[in-house]
Amino acid sequence: MPRKTEIKDYIRTIVDFPHEGIMFRDVTTLFADPRGFRMAIDQLLHPYAGVRFDKVVGLEARGFILGGAVAHQLSAGFVPIRKKGKLPGAVISEEYQLEYGEAVVEIHDDAIEAGEKVLLVDDLLATGGTAEAGIKLVERLGGQIIGCAFVIDLPELGGRKRLEAMDMDVHALCA
Ligand code: IMP
Repeated sequence: MPRKTEIKDYIRTIVDFPHEGIMFRDVTTLFADPRGFRMAIDQLLHPYAGVRFDKVVGLEARGFILGGAVAHQLSAGFVPIRKKGKLPGAVISEEYQLEYGEAVVEIHDDAIEAGEKVLLVDDLLATGGTAEAGIKLVERLGGQIIGCAFVIDLPELGGRKRLEAMDMDVHALCA
């Protein structure tokens, strides 16, 4: 097996998951490798050296794994954005479009205070719909998003352009 040197060497692609025709980027192989996981967290943090964050917001579900480790490194708090109906306290919600149908994501309404500096984290940026909904939730609570960090960006799906059009700073480790 060739030596793994870059983040993308640790990510496997599963063909036809969850539907025929989809090439699913599986980051569990990156997370499972001690060197790969450390490299991913270090690289996610790289552009933000010296920046103080109050909160890291992670998008369900792989954004929790990355976001928890990133928050620990930043000595910031961690806040989950979850799919509808999963959070126990009072929430605010955002609906967004999927390829077929809609989805709703939620955040606890007291999870971020006005003016707090936030880093949004997820494993993969595709169309940007999920991240956009997450950004809107944070901004509705008065949080200031300093950066949006992803392991993978699929630029042909337009997510980066969509977030940049919202004046977001997008950081991704590989395409
Ligand atoms: P978007 O909303 O179209 O940008 O899709 C991004 C969301 O879908 C993220 O929360 C990802 O975790 C998930 N996602 C979409 N495609 C993949 C994939 O190939 N691998 C892992 N996650 C994916």
